[in-house]
Amino acid sequence: MVKAEAVHKSYGAAHILRGIDLEVAPREVFCLVGPSGSGKSTFLRCINHLEKINAGRLSVDGQLVGYRQQGDKLYELKDREVAAQRRDIGMVFQRFNLFPHMTALENVMEAPVQVKGEAKAVARERAARLLDRVGLGDKTGNYPSQLSGGQQQRVAIARALAMEPKLMLFDEPTSALDPELVGEVLDVMRGLADEGMTMIVVTHEMGFAREVGDALVFMDGGVVVESGHPRDVLTNPQHDRTKAFLSKVL
Ligand code: ATP
Ligand code: MG
Repeated sequence: MVKAEAVHKSYGAAHILRGIDLEVAPREVFCLVGPSGSGKSTFLRCINHLEKINAGRLSVDGQLVGYRQQGDKLYELKDREVAAQRRDIGMVFQRFNLFPHMTALENVMEAPVQVKGEAKAVARERAARLLDRVGLGDKTGNYPSQLSGGQQQRVAIARALAMEPKLMLFDEPTSALDPELVGEVLDVMRGLADEGMTMIVVTHEMGFAREVGDALVFMDGGVVVESGHPRDVLTNPQHDRTKAFLSKVL
């Protein structure tokens, strides 16, 4: 579903991603862990072309991200084509970024109506179903300020799902939450995994990685240091850098 080959990304002189190689299979829950500044968020942003890579190849579902290949030549996609690619990718951030002046239901309806031009009645019905699925069937009329952090994050997940993405990217979705609210968000993610959603999850929740993850990559300094099945990497890390990191977060 996602394939990265020797992906490099620099910001000016700062070389952040230094040759990322990895592959995410369809229906896989792919956990990405690593110290602060290692490039995890940057990599996610490259996947939906919020950042342009400087070298290498990155594809989602067999399509190059942001480019079309003809023979040996790469052509940049037009804004409209990039937007079409992005539509298939849902993203959930640490901060929920809900529209404050819209109810939970309106937040979830917004993109299908505005971006896809979907009829409001259809979008409303789906939004209600999705909110029900994330356990918020009774909060559809609440504004973000009337929801807890965990509830807001679940609305954010429902909002991403409303576009019916092929791939979901989660960037530390629980790290801004009070500890007692983390579980309800992880439960929703676990449900999504059970339904076969392909997910890349940047997280420090090693319990989630161990129980739900199919693959785990440890990144440091813009490279993949170690990867494997979460149980193997977490219980038997091979590299000193992985060991040092895990001793801090486990
Ligand atoms: P964290 O765990 O703290 O979220 P991360 O692994 O997600 O860290 P990134 O946010 O990808 O790390 O950042 C990697 C490096 O890239 C950092 O040194 C950061 O300062 C730098 N960086 C990120 N975005 C930009 C930008 N827009 N311009 C310049 N430098 C940036
Ligand atoms: Mg980050």
